[in-house]
Amino acid sequence: MDAGARLRRIDPEDEDQLLRSIERWVEREVKPVVKAHDHADLYPTEIVEQMKAMGLFGATISPEYGGLGLPAATYAKAVMHISSVWMAITGIFNSHLMLALAIEKFGTENQKRRWLPKLATGEVRGGLALTEPDAGTDLQGIRMVARRDGDHYVINGTKTWISNGREGSCFALLVKTNPDAQPRHTGMSLFIAPRGPGFTVGRKLEKLGYKSIDSAELIFEDYRIPADHLIGEVEGKGFLQATGGLELGRINVAARGVGLAEGALRLATEYAQIRKTFGKPICEHQAIQLKLGEMATRARAARLLTLDAAATFDRGERCDLEAGMAKYFSSEAALENSTEAMRIHGAYGYSKEYDIERFYRDAPLTCIGEGTNEMQRIVIARQWIKRNPVS
Ligand SMILES: Cc1cc2nc3c(=O)[nH]c(=O)nc-3n(C[C@H](O)[C@H](O)[C@H](O)COP(=O)(O)OP(=O)(O)OC[C@H]3O[C@@H](n4cnc5c(N)ncnc54)[C@H](O)[C@@H]3O)c2cc1C
Repeated sequence: MDAGARLRRIDPEDEDQLLRSIERWVEREVKPVVKAHDHADLYPTEIVEQMKAMGLFGATISPEYGGLGLPAATYAKAVMHISSVWMAITGIFNSHLMLALAIEKFGTENQKRRWLPKLATGEVRGGLALTEPDAGTDLQGIRMVARRDGDHYVINGTKTWISNGREGSCFALLVKTNPDAQPRHTGMSLFIAPRGPGFTVGRKLEKLGYKSIDSAELIFEDYRIPADHLIGEVEGKGFLQATGGLELGRINVAARGVGLAEGALRLATEYAQIRKTFGKPICEHQAIQLKLGEMATRARAARLLTLDAAATFDRGERCDLEAGMAKYFSSEAALENSTEAMRIHGAYGYSKEYDIERFYRDAPLTCIGEGTNEMQRIVIARQWIKRNPVS
């Protein structure tokens, strides 16, 4: 099945069973280790093995290529739950699934058969390598160049901020095959780039939050790659292919935002009922109630927007507007709820003893990834105007 034409369904009982098993796993395996891993910025090797066993590395890959073939809505619910405890680990399989999506949606049948089964099991893990030191939002400004040399390409340049950069072994690599092309995107191509001679990993990037998942520079020096690694085996389609997964990517970031917003709300709700000032629990003070009321409403609205975008995607309809709105709203909800939850915790919110500080450090990433929220609002407005022309 073409991953572009979704129309995926799951029996509600099967979905329920899957989500219950994820909840049990989060409770038993993730909660006890999150704080120590996050504070030490330690890669969660055991958790990754468990995620492999649960099939999460193949969550959205079609069953004919060895994946679970989950509808976007089920996938989003799983991501929401995991993120309500530890958002960073969802990045380990999500960036990887973006690589798989590019291959499944735009690759040749040979490429799908060769790469997707290994990606689905997690035997090969990786991500999406688009950003460069001088080009993030303006992706068409990248400088990495691939030059054809017989039945190979030779690639030179540097990528940065690449999730799974150190632990992953294969990346969807955006390059220029014709740096002089106008418009610029017509000279861009996307390659399946496994590790090999000429491909080195630079320093691990130190971050405010989103710890434990590795973000790294990838350096390519005369990296030779067979021409059959060009996705779709046609030059000039790379920009479209790299951005073709954005709807699912935005639904995923939105789901992470929902998880963070709900997790922060849960922590604040618990704390506000335990902590007492002036002889009563702080949840009985109106100032705290105002915060909780807003936080609960934001979290609920974020969930509904995200599930609406996912349902539109699963019906096979265009959902760029819906996914953009969900991503924008949910990531801002994550940021606002984690800040408010931290304030409700008073001094303890500033302490590394409590979980809320992690939410406060992790939430801002959701406002940057899959299109910054500054750009997101502009994109939403353009699409909105397009869908509502004056007659
Ligand atoms: C933890 C982390 C993980 C990441 N993982 C990956 C990954 O796996 N793969 C990958 O390829 N990249 C990854 N990125 C990079 C991310 O996609 C980019 O940071 C993002 O696209 C923004 O690019 P930039 O940082 O270069 O900001 P810039 O593009 O330099 O933007 C700077 C500011 O200007 C604003 N801006 C830019 N252009 C406009 C405009 N036209 N109108 C209005 N405002 C504008 C932006 O919104 C932003 O506020 C990751 C980043 C982080 C922090």
